Amino acid sequence: MADTPIIDRLALIGIGLIGSSIARAAKANGLAGHIAISSRTAATLARAEELGLGDSYHEDAGEAVKDADLVIVSVPVGASGAVAAAIGPHLKPGAIVSDAGSVKTSVVRQMAPELPDGVHFIPAHPVAGTEYSGPDAGFADLFENRWCILTPLPGTEAQAIERLSAFWRGCGADIEIMSAEHHDLVLAVTSHIPHLIAYNIVGTADDLEAVTETEVMKFSAGGFRDFTRIAASDPTMWRDVFLHNKEAVLEVLGRFTEDLFALQRSIRWGEGDELFELFSRTRSIRRGIIEAGQETEAPDFGRPHGKSDGDPAE
Ligand code: NAP
Repeated sequence: MADTPIIDRLALIGIGLIGSSIARAAKANGLAGHIAISSRTAATLARAEELGLGDSYHEDAGEAVKDADLVIVSVPVGASGAVAAAIGPHLKPGAIVSDAGSVKTSVVRQMAPELPDGVHFIPAHPVAGTEYSGPDAGFADLFENRWCILTPLPGTEAQAIERLSAFWRGCGADIEIMSAEHHDLVLAVTSHIPHLIAYNIVGTADDLEAVTETEVMKFSAGGFRDFTRIAASDPTMWRDVFLHNKEAVLEVLGRFTEDLFALQRSIRWGEGDELFELFSRTRSIRRGIIEAGQETEAPDFGRPHGKSDGDPAE
């Protein structure tokens, strides 16, 4: 718990999984003197109030950001521009405006023109999440030991970057700074394409006629169920990610498709050495992720395995 809050007045625009986790982390760690919350719908705002996530609740986002020292916008990336336009005229000079969007160049393009001179705009992306949405889904240690990537524009004041970094460190995150363009390429590989693959394989299985839906569910422990967790992620959020990170996703998808054809060829021609070499290389990547503290080393993600489990995993 901080002795004095890092931020006097924090405004959270959007209070779903990410916004509500920021609210909980800020409360748990004493990071903000006052937390003002706004959400698009009255129902979500009322739920945030029931959960006691903030200190004041505002139907009007402009009201929420008045006198705020730090504003964090956590809405689907396609809505960033409209939110920036709504809050822009109400921001106080010297305020830091940030976001949590999973795509950064598009957010910069949408938000920067709507923000007045004299505020510090520092886009950010906490690389942490789950497949759940809404204010009930958040939890205070979501960001613990996870990266928060900041993509400040050239010329941003170092002091403002340090203040936002201190806030995220207070939430348990580690900070990395890079350009918005580089962020979008890195996340295309590590997050956006894996989600696209998961959406695709789950869709393919659903469309197969020779294999019944019951069989897909029954034998899902063979690997399929791990894709279903990712493919259960919020459709609005992910629609916006693909529409707004089009260039980087298409670039990485081109490489991925070529590599998939090479694998198809190896299988067709019985090239076992090629398959073995790739599978050995990929196994070591998982070890690296465990060593980096970004994953558990418990077998099968620590799922219980017992007689009652009836687990046909291969
Ligand atoms: P969420 O749980 O679905 O919450 C979305 C919030 O945005 C709600 O407060 C919702 O308000 C509001 N909203 C939805 N559509 C809107 C619109 N058109 N205009 C204004 N407000 C709107 O989403 P989330 O998972 O917190 O994601 C928020 C942001 O964080 C996204 O940009 C996402 O890319 C990013 N992010 C997500 C994850 C993840 O794993 N989920 C991880 C890192 C970053 P109402 O409920 O009142 O409609």
